[in-house]
Amino acid sequence: MTNHKNTLAIKGGSPVRSQPFPVGKRYGDEEKRLLSEVIDSDMLFYVFGTKVKAMQDKFRHMYGMKYCDSCSSGTAAVHIALGALAIPPGSEVITTSITDMGTPIGILYQCLIPRFADIDPITYNMCPRSTERMINAKTKAIIVVHHAGVAADMEAFLALSKKYSIPLIEDCAQAYLTPYQGRLCGTMGDVSTYSLNHFKHIACGSGGMVMTNRDDIEERIRLFVDKCYFRDGRERNPYFLAPNYQMTELQGAVALAQLDKVEQIINTRVRLGKRLQAGLSEIQGIVPHGVPEGCEHTCFLYTVRLQLDQFNVDVDGFCKALAAEGIPNSPHMITGGMPIYRYDVFRNRSAFPGTAFPFVCHEFDSNIEYRKGDCPEAEKAFDETFNLDINEFYDETTIDDMIHAIAKVAASYCKLKLASV
Ligand SMILES: *Cc1c(COP(=O)(O)O)cnc(C)c1O
Repeated sequence: MTNHKNTLAIKGGSPVRSQPFPVGKRYGDEEKRLLSEVIDSDMLFYVFGTKVKAMQDKFRHMYGMKYCDSCSSGTAAVHIALGALAIPPGSEVITTSITDMGTPIGILYQCLIPRFADIDPITYNMCPRSTERMINAKTKAIIVVHHAGVAADMEAFLALSKKYSIPLIEDCAQAYLTPYQGRLCGTMGDVSTYSLNHFKHIACGSGGMVMTNRDDIEERIRLFVDKCYFRDGRERNPYFLAPNYQMTELQGAVALAQLDKVEQIINTRVRLGKRLQAGLSEIQGIVPHGVPEGCEHTCFLYTVRLQLDQFNVDVDGFCKALAAEGIPNSPHMITGGMPIYRYDVFRNRSAFPGTAFPFVCHEFDSNIEYRKGDCPEAEKAFDETFNLDINEFYDETTIDDMIHAIAKVAASYCKLKLASV
């Protein structure tokens, strides 16, 4: 076999890319400077320190929001949002079927029952029609996730929230500064939540944020972070159950420094994502990650779908060939490797040891089961897609290599051979 440039690397041809992907450092001098200020101040506790407060103020101003409180993780942030909204145990909360476990964990800890809506097959975001079909008298919140860095259909979700008087939580862990029709994700619902875990656009080891414009829940947010302790000199006398989800000054210092970088990170990812989008949309059999009008993909993840009927290869075979071309990728991975309701904790209804609570509960009149087939679009999405990762250290060449490699593999496995490229 001649080593023609169209011969797949997996079949002995030359790979599209032989260099490793660009890498860079996320943390630097500014993080060090603020961290040593914290140590020098001899104060690591957020109530008496300055960094967490400065970070909250900066974040709030960036979004033009009234209140911002920090916490220990994105999981904590969602839990806090539910706790602050004071939703009675046994109520149902609808969220999406493709998300991080951090979205439903707080639902279960508040003894609420999660319902998982199907997704839109183009954007992989929660589908408003599927959500509306699940709404009933027990539904007391909707958690919309702006998945992968693409805004969910907020016009529809805000309309549902209004029509049924159900509060809307925006889980923005994957969607910093993500535009939606001239607004930003996290400024439209009742409460919005963020994560600063290792994998997110910005990070501080572990951390989270909760924002709201609602005066009536702002105090409950602060109390839910902090054992329901008043920190303003009022008598200590907790009146509801709240965990300790404090952020320390150490995380606050790093997060504060990271906030200076977030806009640049987002702009770069949007620019690279657009280039990838344009390139992939030219390739037969490839469906790029859907980005609706008035939105930008801030590229936490980038999902590519294969129109499998056009190829004589499956997703795994395609992805192996793509990896051999020097392009790292993750087959059957969107957020996680399966719809969230396929996890054992839901399938086996095993949230709490020795009981099926809260899925099965006499007092709640609940008996819910999660089954394969519940969300056909979500299940199909895992079968037909793979992920590419994009980060701010990549450049135009990196993206072009991704596009060329995908085009090469697609052409090679295409059933309908067009004139050879
Ligand atoms: C990461 C993530 C969370 C949880 O954040 P942690 O900081 O890891 O606890 C919640 N929701 C979504 C959509 C996420 O991506």
